[in-house]
Amino acid sequence: MAKTSRKPALATRCIHAGDTVDPATGAVMPPIHTSVTYAQPELGRDLGYVYGRASNPTRDAVERCLADLEGGTRALAFASGMAATATVLELLDAGSHLIAPFDGYGGTYRILSEVRPRSAGLAVSFVDCCDLGAIERAIRPATKLLWLETPTNPLLRIQDLRAAAALARRHGVITVVDNTFATPILQRPLEQGCDIVMHSATKYLGGHSDVLAGFLVAGTAELGERLHLLRSMAGGVAGPFDSYLILRGIKTLALRMERHCANAQALAGYLAGHPRVRRVHYPGLADHPHHALASRQMDGYGGMLAFEIEGGAGAARAFLDRLEVFTLAESLGGVESLAGYPATMSHSAMPAEQRRSAGIGDDLLRLSVGIEDPDDLLADLARALAPA
Ligand SMILES: *Cc1c(COP(=O)(O)O)cnc(C)c1O
Repeated sequence: MAKTSRKPALATRCIHAGDTVDPATGAVMPPIHTSVTYAQPELGRDLGYVYGRASNPTRDAVERCLADLEGGTRALAFASGMAATATVLELLDAGSHLIAPFDGYGGTYRILSEVRPRSAGLAVSFVDCCDLGAIERAIRPATKLLWLETPTNPLLRIQDLRAAAALARRHGVITVVDNTFATPILQRPLEQGCDIVMHSATKYLGGHSDVLAGFLVAGTAELGERLHLLRSMAGGVAGPFDSYLILRGIKTLALRMERHCANAQALAGYLAGHPRVRRVHYPGLADHPHHALASRQMDGYGGMLAFEIEGGAGAARAFLDRLEVFTLAESLGGVESLAGYPATMSHSAMPAEQRRSAGIGDDLLRLSVGIEDPDDLLADLARALAPA
């Protein structure tokens, strides 16, 4: 992109960031470079690429783009969100302690609770990260990392990134934020003082439910370099085809997020007034407990919402059976609307007791609101909620 005096807006940078025009041919979309090795002109000299696990031009293009959108110095693309998570944990020495939300993504909860304590000697405190006091009380001398994920899944609770990052920094603790639900269009944690952003690009960044990928974005060059070395060693890189699909997805990210937010807000308002709905969890509703914080911290409230239906598990099942536009499926963030039942789907790995205390009951339904015409989505909910 030509240099201008003014930094372009996010919607423009989604399309142009990373200077992805191929200098050799002028192709406006970068070629998919499949080669894993690169000819060296002479011994001891290379042209910037040596071996595909370390770097690949197609992967570099999407990494430059996401680093720009998140305001980071460097982004690294991974084969999945979990590969990114597994690699960022490699920053920690054995015996380190970390703090994570009790209501985080199920896969994150699993690697932190079942795998790394055994394989790497990590100790983990799961706390309510919406409560700064709870984070502070959990900090010990061995604490090295604070994991945040906001909005949370499935209740869309909001953690205060600026305050939590400042608290962590005072204790020499680095802050990592899973920014999957918000995307850089709605929330940029590095600007709030956090150190590293993690993404499951499988969701909104890809946006079409057809590619699995993940990212880490580092605020400083030093962290970026450490993460790059760790990724090269652990090897969980995104392949060139997947990198291309994520780059392609990001081109429309700003436009898609605008529609996801508008549709979700409309559905949340509708559900909040429906007699068969007990409670709606959406940060864009004025009565959401963290609405003010969300308004301050985010540039939109996102495309995810959850609600409690009158009549418990039976009513939830009947609702899901009657949906026609929404598809019953795991995952989120694609152009199509999806409905899920956290108790047996996304949050089935969570012990039942903990699930209940986290507020994930048998009457809770989760919607990933897509970008279809809002009237069709409203009609689908109305039909599925109508008395049998
Ligand atoms: C899906 C998801 C992940 C895991 O990402 P994968 O790409 O499935 O490995 C992590 N965090 C959140 C919030 C997610 O939704």
